[in-house]
Amino acid sequence: MKNYYELSMSDKLTKEDIKEILLETNPEVLDEIYKQSYKMKENTVGKKVYYRGIIEFSNICAKDCFYCGIRKSQESVDRFSMSEDEILEMAKWACDNNYGSVALQSGEIQSEEFTQRVESVLCKIKELSDGKLGVTLSLGEQSRETYERWYKAGGHRYLLRIETTNPELYAKMHPSDSLHSWHTRVECLKNLRDIGYQVGTGVMIGLPFQTLDDLVADIQFFKDMDIDMIGMGPYVYSQDTPFAKFYENTKENRDKAFELGLKMIAAGRLYLKDINIAATTALQALHPLGREKGLKAGANILMPIITLQQYRSKYQLYDNKPCIDDTPEHCKACLSGRIKSVGD
Ligand code: SAM
Repeated sequence: MKNYYELSMSDKLTKEDIKEILLETNPEVLDEIYKQSYKMKENTVGKKVYYRGIIEFSNICAKDCFYCGIRKSQESVDRFSMSEDEILEMAKWACDNNYGSVALQSGEIQSEEFTQRVESVLCKIKELSDGKLGVTLSLGEQSRETYERWYKAGGHRYLLRIETTNPELYAKMHPSDSLHSWHTRVECLKNLRDIGYQVGTGVMIGLPFQTLDDLVADIQFFKDMDIDMIGMGPYVYSQDTPFAKFYENTKENRDKAFELGLKMIAAGRLYLKDINIAATTALQALHPLGREKGLKAGANILMPIITLQQYRSKYQLYDNKPCIDDTPEHCKACLSGRIKSVGD
């Protein structure tokens, strides 16, 4: 087999090589590929795993993405929005437990009230942590002015998945209106970069209608956009969503999506070398050792859910989301064990 590590080190790894990695199904060859991508991780970003504790503070969403369990039209969802004190309690917990960073995530709301609320939370997190706790925002598409205000208030990283870099596939996954425009999403990523945020993006992997060429183009997009962090993960079936009818939720399909998720991490690591890559919760939804395998394939970031327990079951983006019954303490102990088991 090819030595993708050496090819990458001599800047000769091509898009054809990425496709070859994504096409590979032989377990022995795949093991070897993961060893190569892990070696790339060791030699670029090292074996240190960074935590970004996710606080999912509201499931109220104005959008209607066809694949998502908290989309606006999902009537069975019990909507919640944490109080400012509850969000700060979680941030304080993260700080006391030596997390370097938290990620504030929610459904997508564009309003002055929402903008102010996030601004206020950012200022108070700065205060309570003496400016030590980094904050990643994952609050969807917003105006440039809103992104600027949040940056000034202390949010210096932003995670906005492009979901897919193929505009035609994007159109199949969303209603066709101005609220769900692929071009707006790209514009948002450019604005974020321009303002000075460290920008994270990513895609869902194994989507109905998605091809391997789409995924190769996704990795190229991360490179072309000079992205700082990749947060990508397998698409997971979410019942009662419009997209569910295009996906046969069999073990075989779930295993395939999971394996493709790992191959994307490996290919991303080999192609982009020193980028930050998250081993996402969706990997864990499809395999009990999902995140460990993600770290083994080349990921170096974990995003433990630190949302207060009473809200976790209401933030179900897809079926069988893991850690729903856990407390932040459980998650912390469980993850440090998982990291050590990998040798990171
Ligand atoms: N509204 C914000 C946004 O769009 O960036 C943040 C919240 S949104 C629920 C967070 C991410 O959940 C999306 O970027 C999407 O990739 C992921 N997601 C939603 N439904 C999913 C599914 N069925 N399988 C896997 N990931 C999913």
